[in-house]
Amino acid sequence: MLDGAEYDLSQAVLDELKLRLKGPVLVDGNAGFEESRTVWNAMIDRKPAFVVRCLGTADVLACVRFAREHNLLMCIKGGGHNIAGLAVADGAMMLDMSLMRGVWTDDKEKIVRVQAGGLLGDVDRDTQLHGLATPLGFVSLTGVAGLTLGGGFGYLSRRYGWTVDNVVGMDIVTAEGELVHASRDENADLFWALRGGGGNFGVITGFNYKLYPVGPVVVGGFVAWPASEATEVVELFKEQAEKVPNELSLVMIIRPAPAVPWLPKDRHGTPIVLVGACYSGRLEDGDKIVAPIKSFGKPIGDILVRRPYIQLQSLLDAGNPKGRRCYWKSEYLPQIEPAFSKKFINHAAKIQSPYSSAVLFQLGGAINQVDDEHLPVGNRDARYVFTLTSAWEKTEADTANIEWTRQAWTDMKQFSTGGTYLNFLTEDDGLERTKAALGKGFDLLAKVKAKWDPENVFRTNRNIKPA
Ligand SMILES: Cc1cc2nc3c(=O)[nH]c(=O)nc-3n(C[C@H](O)[C@H](O)[C@H](O)COP(=O)(O)OP(=O)(O)OC[C@H]3O[C@@H](n4cnc5c(N)ncnc54)[C@H](O)[C@@H]3O)c2cc1C
Repeated sequence: MLDGAEYDLSQAVLDELKLRLKGPVLVDGNAGFEESRTVWNAMIDRKPAFVVRCLGTADVLACVRFAREHNLLMCIKGGGHNIAGLAVADGAMMLDMSLMRGVWTDDKEKIVRVQAGGLLGDVDRDTQLHGLATPLGFVSLTGVAGLTLGGGFGYLSRRYGWTVDNVVGMDIVTAEGELVHASRDENADLFWALRGGGGNFGVITGFNYKLYPVGPVVVGGFVAWPASEATEVVELFKEQAEKVPNELSLVMIIRPAPAVPWLPKDRHGTPIVLVGACYSGRLEDGDKIVAPIKSFGKPIGDILVRRPYIQLQSLLDAGNPKGRRCYWKSEYLPQIEPAFSKKFINHAAKIQSPYSSAVLFQLGGAINQVDDEHLPVGNRDARYVFTLTSAWEKTEADTANIEWTRQAWTDMKQFSTGGTYLNFLTEDDGLERTKAALGKGFDLLAKVKAKWDPENVFRTNRNIKPA
């Protein structure tokens, strides 16, 4: 229950709920319950009391009203990718949104409407039919809801900003069990808070995003070198990142080479450094702009080519499957200092698992062109974000992987802007880290929370207590 007490939910009560719904109700033992309760990060092992697979806004509304009538704790699952497992809570009523994946593109108005259970790939697939896109993340299986509510960045963010900078409206079921629309002209305080303040204010049923002409072909992909070249490649990355136009977005990764066909077999499992790129402007310009990367040193693999944007958006999917044990740490950087580069390379050399990476994303561009008060997502001074993403399979390897991540992070956080990305926070990141992510917006969010959710009904998230 919401007050933490145990509640014996009788079959009669569940049957009453079922009568109000179109989507199925699942309890432990029912087909699909395990799929719903498990999330991307296998370190998270929580069990909701039951799951409702919502089949539309009316189901969401019925669930929230039912939860209020019975004082039940609720959790909401979008794509289930949150590293801290915020989609699932023990003993809660879970609203699993994964049956609500409708996408409607209006190519005249350049707006896409997405149901809240949609995945990034669902959106790109539909909008790219019209040569349009909105900035989303790098892995197509991530949920739009969690990504958007915490900010959202990807290959198009340097051109068009955070995902949340491009939301023009949301439909939301509030703690009162009312369906409201939030946009610049309607419930403007709620609209502001939802764009970066996480799932604190209600259950979103749909998002409307602004679209831009992109692709359908871009210049994108990866070039790889042995990690022995890392010092030079970091310099190349930095030099390019500081001068390229916003149409180009770069990422650098140091990790053991995955067993992919474009890398030589004898390199698989050995440490490599990769630069990833997406140029979303004119293809001829893109070919020229990535040439210094492609011709640098002696790459052991190169798939940085003209390719469909939609293909680029799913290039990292296979390497990020659901069900591995994961632990991340992350910080925003104002610049890449030589001392940082050295530490980054040294720590990456001690990675503990073939699936782990040390990643450096280039930010800047449109992200930095508005001030911190614009939206709660904040951190508009960030030029880069580094992320240590540990992933492994066996419980016995937990300690080694977590320790590597924590040690590397502790040693490198001196270079941080002091801010961190809400959507990369892990289970052991507490309130201070939420505040670091939300910056100046935190106090105002608490006030908006007091208006829209004074009893803190929506609390199984990066929780902001009502002011
Ligand atoms: C492999 C991988 C790649 C990633 N890449 C990127 C990236 O490129 N860019 C980026 O910005 N982030 C990225 N992320 C981080 C990602 O943005 C977060 O993990 C985000 O929380 C995922 O959203 P989700 O809907 O899948 O998550 P979930 O775990 O389902 O939900 C996350 C939070 O949102 C809440 N929520 C979900 N749906 C709703 C709803 N309808 N209404 C209200 N609250 C809701 C949940 O309750 C929970 O608190 C990545 C994560 C992973 C695991």
